[in-house]
Parts: sequence; structure tokens; C-alpha cells
Amino acid sequence: MMLIMELNLKMKIKNNLPYKSIFKRGSLIKENQDLNMISGVEIVVNDELPEHVNLSRVINKVKKIFPPSFFDNMHKIIIGQQKEFIDRGVNAMYKDGILYITHEQDDNADLYDDIIHEICHSVEEMHEHDVYGDGLLEDEFIRKRRFVLDMLAADGYNCSDIDASELKYSPKVDNFFHSEVGYRKLGNITRDIFVSPYSITSIREYWATAFENFWIKPDTRPFLKRSSPVLYQKIMKINKLHNL
Ligand SMILES: [Zn+2]
Repeated sequence: MMLIMELNLKMKIKNNLPYKSIFKRGSLIKENQDLNMISGVEIVVNDELPEHVNLSRVINKVKKIFPPSFFDNMHKIIIGQQKEFIDRGVNAMYKDGILYITHEQDDNADLYDDIIHEICHSVEEMHEHDVYGDGLLEDEFIRKRRFVLDMLAADGYNCSDIDASELKYSPKVDNFFHSEVGYRKLGNITRDIFVSPYSITSIREYWATAFENFWIKPDTRPFLKRSSPVLYQKIMKINKLHNL
């Protein structure tokens, strides 16, 4: 599937696009096209974004938040529909140096959130050994999950099928937290435990939601430090590797 997509992209690339047609279907946005894009990252639009969503403005906002070295592992951003989005009910994903984002965005803020979150996964992948090498983050995550599951069990939920130590994304675990319990309730009971109810989904989301909040909502830093000391230390370590 990837191969077919690459071929399609190559066929769609047009050179010297006039400014106004730059976000049209299949267009390739290059750094040197007067748009101040992210250095070394190609942006390909396979499906047009809504008229009121301004990609250039969003990218410039992203660049203000993150230093250039956070993009070192990313070589392409592809905007448009993907089969995985439909299959997994997600809006965006990061895979093999490519950030895929749906074109179905409500507004600039919606697109901004998706891009920021996936860059956090890209940084995570860049430093996988530093983040997960000693197993401490996993321990912290499992402890928190067990605590939440105990609370839910005490509240009458049947959690016997949910394995707190299942670290990777699992549709069963995701479905339990997202659909059976619901993020509204989960958000209430995990307010002092996670930065977002989505953090409980998998170890990777535990990392990404915290790293994202650390950068876009600096006022959550004291909470992160207090509630997730291992995670906070990991974030500081990664920041230091980027001279931040
Ligand atoms: Zn994620």
C-alpha cells in the first residue's frame, strides 16, 4: 500500500505552483516556496483541507512551539484520508518518518493539535532507548493504570478482562476506557493521575500526551512533576538532549 501511495504522490507532484494553488489536491509544498515551512520536511496534500483551515499558519505556529531538532526523524507530512484512520477511528498517525493527518479538520486548532501530538510520537521514536530503556516509565504507567482499574472495579465495572500491564495499544483496552467507561467519567476520576484520559490508552500515549502538554500548556508542568515523576524526568532528559 505504501508503494502505491508513493507512486501516486510522485505522479501528483507539480513544480513551481503559484501561491494560491499550493494547498490544492496532490500538491507538494516545498520549503523554498516562500512559505517558511519546516526545514527538511515535505508537506503533501492529497485531499484538500476545508477552506477556513490555514495550513501555513498552523505550521508556523507549530514551529514556534517546537525546536527544529524535534523534526529530525520526520521527512514528510501527508494530509488526506488513510485506511487506518477509518479502521482505527483516529485522525492522525506517525509511521516510519511520515506524519499522516486527515484533511477532515474542524479548524486550525484541530489541525494544530493533531500535528503537535504526532510530533511527540516522532520525538519518542527518536529517543526510544532513553524513554523506555530502563523500564521505569512502564512501571509508573502500570501502577497508575492498576489504581484506576481498582477505582473502576469498586464503582461496579467489570475490569477482570483488562490487563494493566498490556503496554501496547490494544483495541480491547482502548474500547473499555473510551466506550465502556467513557472519557468524561474517566477524565473526572483520573484528574489527579493523568494529564488527559487518553493517557491511559497505552504506554506510548502516556508519553505523548504528557510531552504534548509540557510544551503547549506549560502551566501543567508542576502537575506532571508531582503526579508522574518518572515521566517528568524523562521529558527533562529528552529536552536536555535537544539543548533545551
Ligand atoms: Zn498518540
